[in-house]
Amino acid sequence: MALTRARYCLLGLAAGDALGMPAQTLSRERIKAEYGRITDFVAPYEGHPVSHGLAAGQVTDDTEQALLLARRLVADPRGFDEEGWARDLLAWEAEIRAKGLSDLLGPSSKAAIAALLEGTPPDRTGVNGTTNGAAMRIAPVGLSVPPEVDRLVARVVQTCRVTHNTGEAIAAASAVAMVVSCGVAGMDFNQALPRALEAASAGQKAGHPKGEPDMAGQIVRAVELAGQGEDALIEGIGTSVASRESVAYAFGLLSMGAPLWDRLVAAANAGDDTDTIGAIAGAMGGALGWSLPEAAVARLRAANALDLDGLAEPLIALQGVA
Ligand SMILES: [Mg+2]
Repeated sequence: MALTRARYCLLGLAAGDALGMPAQTLSRERIKAEYGRITDFVAPYEGHPVSHGLAAGQVTDDTEQALLLARRLVADPRGFDEEGWARDLLAWEAEIRAKGLSDLLGPSSKAAIAALLEGTPPDRTGVNGTTNGAAMRIAPVGLSVPPEVDRLVARVVQTCRVTHNTGEAIAAASAVAMVVSCGVAGMDFNQALPRALEAASAGQKAGHPKGEPDMAGQIVRAVELAGQGEDALIEGIGTSVASRESVAYAFGLLSMGAPLWDRLVAAANAGDDTDTIGAIAGAMGGALGWSLPEAAVARLRAANALDLDGLAEPLIALQGVA
């Protein structure tokens, strides 16, 4: 079951990312005007500020950076070379630029890597990074570590701190990684949520006290608002690149239950950071065993050259490495 759920996790991540791709950075009104309601993979409109040049069903930085992190974890099961990781991200961005695309590194990663290359020590480079870049690429950490709070949060900190060394970002990434880890261990959302909140509280203390001071509380609020429907969730939490909005929003969506596709469609139409919300919700939902329509998965695979299945197995195998 663990391997199936790990595969679903990476597929969910890619599907949510690709569904939200044409809508990213746009307001809900603009999304409606350009596409009506997004219910399937569509191409971005001509001249989209970030997604221009991508085709329907193609993924963005969320999936690509998650797989980049997955490869680094598999290549170095016990350690984590922060400078090597920063160079991975820079090399990835250079590739995107060379293709003539504009979906480059996010604000926290960009500033932190520039500081690192200028000689700032890695425990100082990420002290302003509160945005969702850590949470968007953290799923492979959840796949590779059992659902034990101390061990999981330590690994999250190790892989995030160079770019997102803040309470808000580490708490958010810890919560996402814990749901993924609980999912592949066979749990459902209600079993995973308290553990995710515990991981968020531990992660909150591990980072610099910047941004949202109570990420766990924000997730609880999102789950409560989700009970009043999607509009209440959007208005009460928000969908921006801030972890306290987009990551909490993804938890609210997840609390509405399967089918995962419907949750990812909601993310794609929610406005602002639609692709990252979809990626985070998709990774968590997939890990909880929620499958996607076969036809959508086939279209997703055809639109991208991603080694999702090839990475699921070695990531799960890392759980046996103490
Ligand atoms: Mg993206």
